[in-house]
Amino acid sequence: MRSSELDALIDEVGIVTASARRHVAGVLFTYRCTIQCRHCCFGCRTDLPDAVMTPLQLAGVLALLHETGRVVHVAGGEAMMYWDHLSEGIRLAHLEGNAPYFIETNCSFATDDAIVERRLGFLADHGLRGVLASSDPYHQEWVPPERFLRVREWTIRRFGEQNFYGSKAAAEDIMALPQVTADEERLRQHVRSHPPVMVGTAGRKLAQYLDRRAPDDPALPKAGWRLQRDLPGCLEQFASEPMWELHVDPYGNIQTNCGIILGNTATITPAQLLAQGPEHANRFVERLCAEGPLGLARLAHDEYGFEMPESVTQGCELCFLVRHHLRQSHPHIFGPTEVYA
Ligand code: SF4
Ligand code: SF4
Repeated sequence: MRSSELDALIDEVGIVTASARRHVAGVLFTYRCTIQCRHCCFGCRTDLPDAVMTPLQLAGVLALLHETGRVVHVAGGEAMMYWDHLSEGIRLAHLEGNAPYFIETNCSFATDDAIVERRLGFLADHGLRGVLASSDPYHQEWVPPERFLRVREWTIRRFGEQNFYGSKAAAEDIMALPQVTADEERLRQHVRSHPPVMVGTAGRKLAQYLDRRAPDDPALPKAGWRLQRDLPGCLEQFASEPMWELHVDPYGNIQTNCGIILGNTATITPAQLLAQGPEHANRFVERLCAEGPLGLARLAHDEYGFEMPESVTQGCELCFLVRHHLRQSHPHIFGPTEVYA
């Protein structure tokens, strides 16, 4: 059940500020997407299996996520591509007082005003408080920028400025975004000045633009994630309080943004996992939290025959290579297939 206290906070400060204060818990409704961004850390794309939550499953997972006290939302892949499932799941959740607070979209659905008005109206009538809309050079390689602008305009109109989660850049700057990926040199400069996390599709498509260093070089960038705290290893990604995001996917897997399964809703709830300490979910996560990706690489080398690469661009890229290797013996931890394919 949604907490009235969090509802009141969102009434006061909106979903963006509330998310910064409480952090978020998201439904990965599907790994499939309408597009295939070069920077996608989950490897979402168009040609993945048609695995999506049922409406009942969505309503059940939303109820579990609200127990965490975080700002609950629905993400993907692109959840909007299964609108019938999504809207029915939200309707069921709303009946029980469990509607999500916002939904994430890449805006590909926003082909005209009528569909945006209709869908946002449905969401508002069923308890949602806002929308997160993506825009950057990678999304706008695929999604016409005017669709983002349309979602932004209608979200602000329907939910108010403080409940639009996304870029406030001038329209002309949004319209110019496709120029970045269309020009190899501009793309290179963009990747170097704003390096994404080199896992999933990003590791395959964008690592070529970054400098390479030996895995044990102290100058190797630790991670692409925006780190807020000075904690050892990857503890910030896994400890309950600093962890930015916890997800549940269509298979019931509970994970952070790192593609490492910490539990499954068949045996543990997200709130129980957070209470137990996700940093102790298994020995691989414990090693990451204590020693970072190099520690995991050494463990995999010593015990599972992982061959240390000569060079990588980021600690996170090293981590992804190690996880690929460990997945052979531990697919229930380093999964699901969509993330590693
Ligand atoms: S970043 Fe988002 S919009 Fe882009 S492919 Fe991944 S899930 Fe889809
Ligand atoms: S090194 Fe691995 S576990 Fe650590 S932040 Fe990067 S992807 Fe996540």
